[in-house]
Amino acid sequence: MMEKQYKCAYCHNRFKNKNEAERHQNSLHLRRHSWSCAAISGYEAAFHPSTSPPSQAPNGPSGDACGYCGEEFSNFPRDWDARIEHLTNVHKFGECNQTKKFFRADHFRQHLKHSHAGTSGKWTNMLENACMKDEPPADAAGGTVVEAGEPSQPPVQTSTALPPTPTVTERSQQRS
Ligand SMILES: [Zn+2]
Ligand SMILES: [Zn+2]
Ligand SMILES: [Zn+2]
Repeated sequence: MMEKQYKCAYCHNRFKNKNEAERHQNSLHLRRHSWSCAAISGYEAAFHPSTSPPSQAPNGPSGDACGYCGEEFSNFPRDWDARIEHLTNVHKFGECNQTKKFFRADHFRQHLKHSHAGTSGKWTNMLENACMKDEPPADAAGGTVVEAGEPSQPPVQTSTALPPTPTVTERSQQRS
């Protein structure tokens, strides 16, 4: 049995692997990432190459899996109409509140389950990654550099300081 040896730096949770601990810290405490359905770039991003053993052909996966439910769709040919229909009818793709953001992967998974008829499996990680965005660090938000000190004033020039315009008269040239 593995011991839970990785400890969260922010709370008392312990994790059996480093990845899990980092994931927890990032999503719960640091909010480096957010998940939203709006972040998915398109229908294509909802599918990923199948990882199930039966679909592993010598030249690569013979099909793609749906990121919501794991259903497999053949690559020979890639029938996008069938895939889009599946996303629209089964998973209500794009029909949820697109402004909703989740800062915890497990909350996003709940959303996939309740709003998109999602089932959890190894395909869920792929969809999670497709819906994930980096968030700017909280302490950098609005952190604009302010220059210290007043700008130095240039010395005031007055018109009297200007050198007099030399005037040359013909008379000055005359000899007495
Ligand atoms: Zn924690
Ligand atoms: Zn959604
Ligand atoms: Zn599906």
